Amino acid sequence: MKEFRYSEVFADLIQRWEELLASGPLPVIRQVDLPGEGPLVVLHQTAKREGAPRVLLSAGIHGDEPAGPECLYHKMKQGLLSTEVEWVVVPFLNPGGLRKGTRENPRGLDLNREFLRDQTVEIAFYKETVPSLGPYDLMLSLHEDWEFKGSYLYEINTGTRPSMAQGILDLLAAETGLAEAEVIDEHRPILPGLIVHDPIADEPENWPEAIFMIHQQPLLSYTLETPSQAPLEKRVRCMAGVIDYCAERLSRERGR
Ligand SMILES: [Zn+2]
Repeated sequence: MKEFRYSEVFADLIQRWEELLASGPLPVIRQVDLPGEGPLVVLHQTAKREGAPRVLLSAGIHGDEPAGPECLYHKMKQGLLSTEVEWVVVPFLNPGGLRKGTRENPRGLDLNREFLRDQTVEIAFYKETVPSLGPYDLMLSLHEDWEFKGSYLYEINTGTRPSMAQGILDLLAAETGLAEAEVIDEHRPILPGLIVHDPIADEPENWPEAIFMIHQQPLLSYTLETPSQAPLEKRVRCMAGVIDYCAERLSRERGR
């Protein structure tokens, strides 16, 4: 019952994205179509000023996590991304999985463990496109987790930027509350909802996106996990708030 309803929502999401892409105005920099699944796209929205901070915004690598692609759909459709920042946006990296509502892609692979290899079209596409559009001041990766009632955050910081975690946590606390577990995915949060992660993969052969990008350049990286148990609207609002907050922080720091 639950599965059926979700699949229905997800199919509609990719369909709406396809309609939006076909309608023309989005700043698509690269697009590859996966027959029967949907498009893979990277968008590049320039800032109104040269030398603006550059942010990598990524979502939908897990097909059972619709809030990120849904949030970015509204942001792009309504032109809501800050013009103070330059954005490289990967709105959904697993269109086949999103269509079916599965974490894995249609070949049964968890794409967020495939970044050391080049055996998937999706990750090969990402690796050919995303690093060359950097360097990035910040990477923000939007995820969801079924396991917890509250949100949480992974921070990896190999760059020189001050942490933004506290501001992000305040937003998450107000919207969904924070995950209260003492151990999250075998990691111990240093504050409620905050895991500070070393720039090393938990499983040496199975690199996720953040670990791959950290190996491309020094970087401040956040992986945001919102609770799938909370209403979709709330998760979307959470993500939108964090995106706006980070843009504001970066442009303020750059202005100094
Ligand atoms: Zn995920």
